[in-house]
Amino acid sequence: MVVGGGAAATFLLHRMAADGGSQRPVIIVEPAPRLGPGVAYSTPDPVHLMNVCRIRLSVDGDGGEDLIGWLGDRGIKADADTYLRRAMYGDYLADVAGRCADLVGVDHRRSRVAGLARGDAGWTVRLDDGSTIDAGDVVLATGFPGRPVPPCDAPLDDPRVVANPWSPGAFGGAGIERVVVIGTGLTMVDVALSLVERHPGVQIVAASRRGLVPRTSRPGLPATIDPALLPEPGIGGCDLVHHVIRLGRTQDDWQAVVDNVRPRANDIWRELAYGEQGHILRRWFPWWNVHRHRTAPAVGERLAALLDSGQLRIVRSRVTSAEDSGAGDGRLTVRFAEATVADEPADLLVNAAGPSDDLAVSGDPVVQQLLASGDVVVGPHRLGLAVDRAGRAQGRGLGPTPGLWLVGALRRGTEWETTAVPEIRIQAGVIAERLLHGDSDAEDTPVSVGRC
Ligand SMILES: Cc1cc2nc3c(=O)[nH]c(=O)nc-3n(C[C@H](O)[C@H](O)[C@H](O)COP(=O)(O)OP(=O)(O)OC[C@H]3O[C@@H](n4cnc5c(N)ncnc54)[C@H](O)[C@@H]3O)c2cc1C
Repeated sequence: MVVGGGAAATFLLHRMAADGGSQRPVIIVEPAPRLGPGVAYSTPDPVHLMNVCRIRLSVDGDGGEDLIGWLGDRGIKADADTYLRRAMYGDYLADVAGRCADLVGVDHRRSRVAGLARGDAGWTVRLDDGSTIDAGDVVLATGFPGRPVPPCDAPLDDPRVVANPWSPGAFGGAGIERVVVIGTGLTMVDVALSLVERHPGVQIVAASRRGLVPRTSRPGLPATIDPALLPEPGIGGCDLVHHVIRLGRTQDDWQAVVDNVRPRANDIWRELAYGEQGHILRRWFPWWNVHRHRTAPAVGERLAALLDSGQLRIVRSRVTSAEDSGAGDGRLTVRFAEATVADEPADLLVNAAGPSDDLAVSGDPVVQQLLASGDVVVGPHRLGLAVDRAGRAQGRGLGPTPGLWLVGALRRGTEWETTAVPEIRIQAGVIAERLLHGDSDAEDTPVSVGRC
């Protein structure tokens, strides 16, 4: 049984279909009518582009033919380095999921999983309509867990506070002239483009502690760096940072360095000592993020224009609170941690801070219940859940929990790179193989991830 029917479930189905289908029935519990797009690729907004180029996105692997064939059948031209619209990629995933669901014989239940309990014979899965499903194996493919919560003191029931920027109609209201966005990463970029599209004169202030904004991918594919020059798993934390910086200087191409290091990032991360991981998270994580999670070139151009014109302003401070201005103007007053940053009047406060790093804050009931039963444990830095290399959840007994598999963002407890298509596709393939051909206690050999 699979919980969640987004990209991860689609890759899983694709691998099962390619292997001739499953002997056991496959149930996918997903409230959305279509399997495939999930949260990321359900946006109808044409200004939202993929941040990974076309050649990395096919269900049949890095450089695979399936996606280019699908585009060709629809008369859509896309070079290897084209950045597709996210909605189009969602349509592609829906098409793949539909094709593969037929081949595998999938039962799509349009509901949400409310809880999981492990017994001697497997799992009893409780849906929020009150029904239950018995399953030998459960794959949790729920993306980022829980609901987004603005990391500040703000009235959550106030319609001027948008906790989830992906909720339909979030920016549709009239008279939106001033907006404060919490966060300055890729979600902020999406929010800014959507706002300007709907409210051309809007003034946007985006705030984060460091004020770092995603870099933009250069047109074309990144260069390949001689693997012998790249850091190896086992390198110490400080050496790693110096190695990457030095490589950036000697190659004179930091994008290529980030993209070439990325496939081995999980293996390097696993072997770092706890203290070294902590140092990297505190000191270097934000820098890695803005260089690694880049915008498509066309999006970067629009972002630069908004910044140059002053329509989008970046503030280096944390938003601490928002409340009604009390002036009868219908606006909020947004306050910041730094006394030097003036309060901002806003028609909307939009949370683009991404998922909370604290699983307890995100409040996902399934995760909370599994934590309470000890079937999953939080990883060392509390970023997500702990897994082994094959994707089996680690339980409180420090061994894998039988029949419980994690894919995608939930694995952040152990894995550094686990949220994007190339990584998720490989994880799903490994799990599908285990489900079809049997599990073993042996750790998987590390999987390699294509660059993007
Ligand atoms: C806005 C956005 C843009 C992104 N853009 C890119 C990009 O350009 N390139 C890239 O490589 N990656 C991108 N990502 C990363 C993205 O996380 C992955 O690419 C991928 O879409 C994740 O798929 P998933 O199936 O793990 O999660 P999701 O797509 O989030 O799907 C999870 C599904 O689980 C369902 N679900 C959750 N809880 C339950 C429950 N209790 N019961 C039943 N169903 C449940 C949800 O309804 C959802 O459909 C983006 C992420 C976001 C949020």
